[in-house]
Amino acid sequence: QPTAIAVGRFAPSPSGPLHFGSLLAAVGSYLITKQQAGSWLLRIEDIDTPRVRPGADSAIMHALEQHGLLWDGTVIYQSQRLERYNDVFTQLQQRGLLYGCKCSRKQISASGGLYPGTCAALELTPANGELLSWRLHAAGVACHFTDLLLGLQHISPELAREDYILRRRDGLFSYQLAVVVDDLDQGITEVIRGADLLSMTPRQQHLFLLLGATAPRYGHLPLAVTAPGHKLSKQNHATALHNWPVSYTMARALAILGLLLPPDLQQAPPVEQLAYALLHWRPADIPAAREVLTSDFG
Ligand code: GLU
Repeated sequence: QPTAIAVGRFAPSPSGPLHFGSLLAAVGSYLITKQQAGSWLLRIEDIDTPRVRPGADSAIMHALEQHGLLWDGTVIYQSQRLERYNDVFTQLQQRGLLYGCKCSRKQISASGGLYPGTCAALELTPANGELLSWRLHAAGVACHFTDLLLGLQHISPELAREDYILRRRDGLFSYQLAVVVDDLDQGITEVIRGADLLSMTPRQQHLFLLLGATAPRYGHLPLAVTAPGHKLSKQNHATALHNWPVSYTMARALAILGLLLPPDLQQAPPVEQLAYALLHWRPADIPAAREVLTSDFG
């Protein structure tokens, strides 16, 4: 019985060096893909140019290599794919699925944070140099999905059906558009990532449908936090990984994913630790938590 070949990916934003939270996502995605003898791809999500830090891409790649996380094939950069995003954007726009919006971020947060659809019926077009963002009519987005790792997940209808941005006022394409077009074009079958993106999944699945494609499977891993609700991120200056021995970091990541290495592998090179994990770890070993406390990496 031929089975489809698994294709996984790690998709970091190069806004700083790799931190422990991202490494955790990389390890989970790597193991799940490689246990199915699949290809594991690396995509640099540099679509949000103002947040890109020069050199962060190579620092991330170096850290991955040091941790034995070797990707397959060529690295894709979102900044090289603007023409393709533009084609998809134009197609959606011509199908009447998008609308122009002139609301500022300030106005939206004043009305509670979620976009209330203020401009949905106004049929705004860029006139007199007024800058518009472009939002998708999202009433058709589902409020639930089945997570590969966590089972059935419910998202509040207000969030799931928020008319979200595909193209920003400054002309940049949004993460939501780029990530779906890339996952589609790269033939990704398993999206394994941190639980911070869990609530974005129904909108991404819906966009796949609009593009006439089958969405990948989505699975979300526990998020590394320094305190409840405080995720490790480049913004809060999470410790760069190079401050710790690589085998310690890998052992910690595997432990969080539910695998305790035998004593003789605790300080072994990460490739050996990963080889052991490929044989002995199962996705079902991941603790069913949305957050895990990792203050030593904070
Ligand atoms: N680029 C996103 C991030 O670094 C991850 C995108 C994804 O995995 O869907 O948070």
